[in-house]
Amino acid sequence: MTIQTTSPSPTGDSDLTVRARTSVLADLADRISGAVHGPDDAGYDAARCGFNLLSDHRPAVIAVPSNRFDVAEAVRFAAAEGLRVAIQATGHGPGPSADGALLINTSEMTDVSIDPIARTATVGAGAKWAPALEQAQRHGLAPLLGSTTDVGVVGYTLGGGFGWLGRKYGLASDAVRSFDLVTPDGNPLRVSATSHPDIFWALKGGGAGSIGVVTDVVIDLFPVTTVYAGNLLYSAEDAPEIMRRFSEWAPDQSEDLTSAVTLMNFPPLDIVPEPFRGKSFTMIRGCWSGDLDLGRSVIDEWRNWKTPEVDMWAEMPFTAADAISMDPTDPVPAMVTTEWMDELTGEAADILASRVLPSPGAMPLILFAEIRHAGGAVSRGAAASPNDRGRDGTFLLELASIVPDPQLALAVESALRLTREALAPFVTGAAYLNFLEGEEKSERSTSAFSEANRRRLAAIKAALDPENRFCHGVSLV
Ligand SMILES: Cc1cc2nc3c(=O)[nH]c(=O)nc-3n(C[C@H](O)[C@H](O)[C@H](O)COP(=O)(O)OP(=O)(O)OC[C@H]3O[C@@H](n4cnc5c(N)ncnc54)[C@H](O)[C@@H]3O)c2cc1C
Repeated sequence: MTIQTTSPSPTGDSDLTVRARTSVLADLADRISGAVHGPDDAGYDAARCGFNLLSDHRPAVIAVPSNRFDVAEAVRFAAAEGLRVAIQATGHGPGPSADGALLINTSEMTDVSIDPIARTATVGAGAKWAPALEQAQRHGLAPLLGSTTDVGVVGYTLGGGFGWLGRKYGLASDAVRSFDLVTPDGNPLRVSATSHPDIFWALKGGGAGSIGVVTDVVIDLFPVTTVYAGNLLYSAEDAPEIMRRFSEWAPDQSEDLTSAVTLMNFPPLDIVPEPFRGKSFTMIRGCWSGDLDLGRSVIDEWRNWKTPEVDMWAEMPFTAADAISMDPTDPVPAMVTTEWMDELTGEAADILASRVLPSPGAMPLILFAEIRHAGGAVSRGAAASPNDRGRDGTFLLELASIVPDPQLALAVESALRLTREALAPFVTGAAYLNFLEGEEKSERSTSAFSEANRRRLAAIKAALDPENRFCHGVSLV
């Protein structure tokens, strides 16, 4: 029996009759120990929804595997039925809609174990950074997580993974020892630098969701415990001046510091603490992981230049690193986009300030623009990585919006697009894969690869997934 794969109905239903679908679902349910949900089942909505509430996909079938054997069975089932396959762990980075596909929801595969001697963590497909960080810190070690411990380790790592230790230790994808992969034809493979090196290379920042399901990853851990980190909040009006100053200051900094300048419009919501609620700021944020006194003196350069309205930089255990970005943990309807920049010019700074910070009385459509200082180990890792384009640039721009009302989606989408278009003369045109979502993830992902790498990735993809059934992640073709 074949479930329609190319033209799902607007509801995401396949051509299957209800009776046929019931029998197909029962067949899959018999083969795996985890749950299987069809659109009529009570657990369907909970299993299809993730962190980003804008992703409202309606898969034909959802499998919630308990282990890698379940994943292999589900993938073989999809191959036999001719189903497209989408993967979701936390739903922080949804790709193109999974309507009518088999969705593999890995959220039950949350095992984390630490080997303090080898300085590695073995992490299951559905685990978030929080338990990996917490367990690693018991041994004085840290993984290369990003701005929030709420994101999934595997999805983050497959897309690169640029966090607050990035300039010192590189992207998370640079620090992978091996992946356990279920290929699109349902075969389990252990891939590493010595076993299937081509696939290993592709997964290290190139193939999220496109060449199989990663069931476990073994990552390196680094000796980081106490850091000097936080935010300086300056007035929104200072944004053009602060961005210009940051563009000259940041490139001189040690790799112990990963920092960013952020234009932030805090929403007028109860969950936002009072000093920030409904206000806009220009923020200097980051994390120093070297000698703490030296770190304090580096941030003093900003304090001595101008006293901030709020000063939140402090010594903190790395377990508290979520305090740097203060990302939301409850699901939100969000849009995000990105550009790599070789430099942050005065013109680009002015465009960002005028388009992101609201004029008096206007509602901001962009929540924040963050320009992270890259370079250091982020740049050094570029040549060996599939996502080599852009990542040797000096700055990474992320633009993010919340869509509080579906009627505003079009307005928010155009605000982000028009800002990118205005910035076009000042950016490289290369995307950072982890900051692409929805259709943009498939439309722009090849811009992250040099032509030689794109061809190599396309060849790996063609060998593993000739029918392109894994078409809901990064596009390699
Ligand atoms: C609040 C917030 C903060 C963020 N901060 C950072 C940051 O600091 N640095 C950074 O680099 N990124 C950051 N991101 C982006 C984030 O890393 C990506 O969205 C990432 O893809 C999320 O992975 P996930 O598994 O949590 O999400 P999901 O939406 O569940 O997965 C994202 C995609 O990854 C692929 N994928 C997931 N699991 C597997 C698997 N087991 N096998 C194969 N493919 C898989 C799929 O294609 C899936 O569509 C942030 C995102 C948010 C929303």
